[in-house]
Amino acid sequence: MNVTVLSGGVGGARFLRGLMSVVDPGNVSIIGNVADDIELLGLRVSPDLDSILYTLTGRSDDARGWGRADESWRALETVGELGGEDWFRLGDRDLGLHLVRTELLRGGATLSDATARIARAFGLEARLLPATDDPVRTFLETPAGTFPFQTWFVARGHRDEVDAVHYAGAPEAVPAHGVLDALNEADVILIAPSNPYVSIGPILAVSEIRAALEERSVPCVAVSPLVGGRAVKGPADRMLRRLAGGTSPAHVASCYTGLVDALVIDLADAPAELPHGVRPVATRTLMTDLDAARQLAAAAVDAAAAPA
Ligand code: GDP
Ligand code: CA
Repeated sequence: MNVTVLSGGVGGARFLRGLMSVVDPGNVSIIGNVADDIELLGLRVSPDLDSILYTLTGRSDDARGWGRADESWRALETVGELGGEDWFRLGDRDLGLHLVRTELLRGGATLSDATARIARAFGLEARLLPATDDPVRTFLETPAGTFPFQTWFVARGHRDEVDAVHYAGAPEAVPAHGVLDALNEADVILIAPSNPYVSIGPILAVSEIRAALEERSVPCVAVSPLVGGRAVKGPADRMLRRLAGGTSPAHVASCYTGLVDALVIDLADAPAELPHGVRPVATRTLMTDLDAARQLAAAAVDAAAAPA
């Protein structure tokens, strides 16, 4: 069975780690968000792709919740001493990856080529595909002004309420090599419990990806990132309240209108009234450990197999 998953960073990666023990990783394609990508200190950083890489190859720091395990920060200390940009936390081990990626890109590789090379070297069994090789970048319109994603998220600690989300570059962007094949050859399409606006939204903003989902002939199942109407981490609940009008499963489903056949929600959010054609599937969705993530992934795959 081929499974293709749309994913953001940390929430998506946790779900994917569970999925890897439910289906053969060799049959999993991951379409990752690149609209959080940033150029820092001359280096190209792809935080969501890297969260997936680190988590699925046993390199992530699960206690901190992001970045690499056994990390140190000496390079960044020097950056700070020299008055350089040190607001975005780049650890020494993490920097090594960014050096290699940047070098590959400078040598003419596409982001998807560079990602494939890095994934192979790290021993990733699943296929990790950036949604696009074109520059798509998320901007948040807030009462304090419009900010690039990482300025809003990291530098300002996502404290500003969001009035609108823009995906700069998306209208011109085309899917990276392999993305449409992964969608067309999938037996099941999943949308990870990632932030609908800033992780999944930019993937769906690539029109050919959205069209492939709209025209799918196989089931697509999304997993809600909310538990009891609240984000497990991050601003998804606040964004849903302000942008969709609430945090119920129906509000989550409204982010994926016409794109999903079922929405996996937490037992705390059930029973749920969903738009016509979207089946609610209630289960425990808090991924407290690998086993919980595995059960959630199994529920999502089973939901796809269930008759409509
Ligand atoms: P980011 O790109 O690193 O911000 O990560 P994602 O967008 O992939 O994931 C962030 C989302 O994951 C947040 O909205 C969280 O609510 C959600 N999330 C994190 N852990 C869990 C969990 O255990 N269960 C569920 N259902 N959602 C989770
Ligand atoms: Ca992200």
